[in-house]
Amino acid sequence: MNETRKTANYKITAGKNGNLYGFFCGLSKALVCESAEVKGASSEEELCIAWEGYGRKHFNKCRKCGIWVADAMYNPDMLNCVRCSPIEDYPDYCPGCGAKTREPSYFCHICGSKLFYGGEMSDEKAECD
Ligand SMILES: [Zn+2]
Ligand SMILES: [Zn+2]
Repeated sequence: MNETRKTANYKITAGKNGNLYGFFCGLSKALVCESAEVKGASSEEELCIAWEGYGRKHFNKCRKCGIWVADAMYNPDMLNCVRCSPIEDYPDYCPGCGAKTREPSYFCHICGSKLFYGGEMSDEKAECD
């Protein structure tokens, strides 16, 4: 399905004074963030409040398949999720602190950000020969 979604997948939990919205990564299916209790005049409005106020900043939208994914599942060079654009090339610059990267390593030597995602999603690797 290539439908474009307005928000990440979510689950609603009823709270005392409103609903709590938990937002999930479209790829890893991990719970990325949960809103505080929100209340809206309609369910659309409520979702909008939770998404704009809490969820959205933790997500990136894949331009190819339209799902919302957490930072770790996003290829910022291609603006796609890592399923559509696996990060296979080692980045020249750290996406976390902008430092020039040195020898290939999974993590930035300056800030510890994750640099390389290839191979994390599955065992099958693109073979270039
Ligand atoms: Zn995608
Ligand atoms: Zn860094």
